[in-house]
Amino acid sequence: MSPEAKKALKGKILADIVALKADIERLEALTQPIPPDDAIGRISRMEAIHEKSINETALDAAKTRLIRLELALSKIDHPDFGICVECGEAIAAGRIMLMPESTRCVKCAE
Ligand SMILES: [Zn+2]
Repeated sequence: MSPEAKKALKGKILADIVALKADIERLEALTQPIPPDDAIGRISRMEAIHEKSINETALDAAKTRLIRLELALSKIDHPDFGICVECGEAIAAGRIMLMPESTRCVKCAE
């Protein structure tokens, strides 16, 4: 990976982290405890519980991705960065740009 590509990638990871943190904050607000039935009605409470569980799944995914992105950022200057942990081949630049947290090439990730 060229120094220019690495610099661009670093910028992208940082931007992704900022966006993810905003997303996590928003999702955390949406996954607060739901008020009892008599406060909002039974049907809308059921809907709220359903929505909350969807948001909780999204929140978990966002938190996991944040950890991976921070890890990728901490390893970006390491000589092994962008090398597949399975086969030792370089991971395609397009894949790294799209998913900087990738530790496997497309072939090994399948
Ligand atoms: Zn591989």
